[in-house]
Formats: sequence, C-alpha cells, structure tokens
Amino acid sequence: MQGLIFSVKRYSVHDGPGIRITFFMKGCPLSCWWCHNPEGLNPSVERVTLTRKVGEKEFRETEEVGKLYSVENILEIIEKDSIFLRQSKGGVTFSGGEPMMQLGFLAEALRACKDKGYHTAVDTSGYSPGENYMKIIPVTDLFLFDIKHLNDTKHIEYTGVSNMRILDNLRMILNSGKDVMVRIPVIPGKNDDPVHLSELREFLAGLKCDNLRRINLLPFHRIGASKYKRFDLPYRMDDTRQPSHERMKELKEFFLATGIKVKIGG
Ligand code: SF4
Repeated sequence: MQGLIFSVKRYSVHDGPGIRITFFMKGCPLSCWWCHNPEGLNPSVERVTLTRKVGEKEFRETEEVGKLYSVENILEIIEKDSIFLRQSKGGVTFSGGEPMMQLGFLAEALRACKDKGYHTAVDTSGYSPGENYMKIIPVTDLFLFDIKHLNDTKHIEYTGVSNMRILDNLRMILNSGKDVMVRIPVIPGKNDDPVHLSELREFLAGLKCDNLRRINLLPFHRIGASKYKRFDLPYRMDDTRQPSHERMKELKEFFLATGIKVKIGG
C-alpha cells in the first residue's frame, strides 16, 4: 500500500514530544479559511507552476505536489534519523491535510513504526468516522487534536463541516486512555471573542483527565498566504493580523484556569 505525501519534515520539534519526523499527507475534508497548508487540501497529485528569479531573469517551472511513498520508504527515511528520534524521546508524526483520509496506509505506517519501537503521533482535525479512529488507536501514542470552534454554525461557516463528529471523537479518544494534546488555532475575529473563549474554557475543563496532556494555542499566521495563488485558491484572511505575543500570553493565563497545561505554539 502507498500513501500520498506532500512534505516530509525532519527534526521537527512542534509536532509532539522530542525530535520528530513529520509526514504531511495529502487530502483534507475541511476547508478552513486560515489553513496554512493549502497544498494538503486536494487528495491527488497536483501540478503547479512556480516563477523563479535568477538575477534579472525569470524562469517558470512546473512542480508536482504529492508523491507516493510505501511503508518501506517511510521506514527508510525514519531509520536515517533514528538516533536523534530515540535519544530525544521523539518519534514520528503523521499530519496533513488530514491523515485519516488515507486510513489504510496510515494504519500500516503507524503499525510499522510501533513495531520498530518509535513513538507515534497523529495530527488530526477529528473529522473522520469514529470507527476509523478505533482502528488506529492501538498503534497511536498521541493524538494532536484540533478544536476550531464550538458553535456548530460558525464551525460550518469557517471550515465547511459540522463539529459534532469532531467533539464526539475527542471524547472517545480521551476515553480510550491515549494521550491527547488539544490544539486551538487562535484566529482573530473568528474564534477569539470573549463568549466563545469562555465556552471553550468550560468545555476543556469538563474534559480534564490525566491523558489530556496539554492545550496548545496556535496563533494565526500568514505564512501560507502566498501559496494560495499558486494553487489557484481564494485567500480569505487578508484582513486578519497575527495576534500579539501579549495577547497570546493573556490567553495562556486564561486557559490555565482549566487545570490543564497550556503552551503557546505546537
Ligand atoms: S483541517 Fe487543517 S489541513 Fe484541513 S483545511 Fe483545516 S487547517 Fe487545513
């Protein structure tokens, strides 16, 4: 079985504990306004045209985004960094896009990593049928689980899908006893109003348990903005600014009242 991957990040320190290798898998059923990985949305290989400047000359090049990897390919890549991953108590993370869209490959890759003794993490939007998560829970050590909005109407507006299945899956994974880090993208004007933040804090406090390891507050940034043109997609966040460091510190204090650890960033 093969998986379609658009990027492999070595020495990653934001996608779970220790030093990690993160595989970014193609395809996502959501369409978040603020997504900074638009190259991960489409579940197929895409051809994009890039303009490169060398001195005064401009060159146009076509590039393929997305490449097929077998589980053996994945293991070969991981084994090269094995010493760093093991010594740092790191491991392997599957992100995207939404890795659950390639469930068969994901489950096989996770199993192979576990068999070699690596810590495994899955970074997910939570939007996949519950039975799919049941299939990977035995081979996943940590879920990086996004919560974007508790209000379902707003969730549909900003991501294209309902949050009901997502919230059910979060409860189910927590009940399984597996470690979870909840990731909240902080998007000014979209999910950071006082009413929503209070609801979110109450919701998270209600979930508090030993395996809910941390809340990660991910400040909005515009790093992915330039990619939208390349993929011929509309960018809807032109008017939004990155939250200040002071604002993020304020939010960290606010969520610490849940009794759960809070970190700014991944
Ligand atoms: S779930 Fe993640 S990858 Fe998918 S659209 Fe939203 S931000 Fe992008």
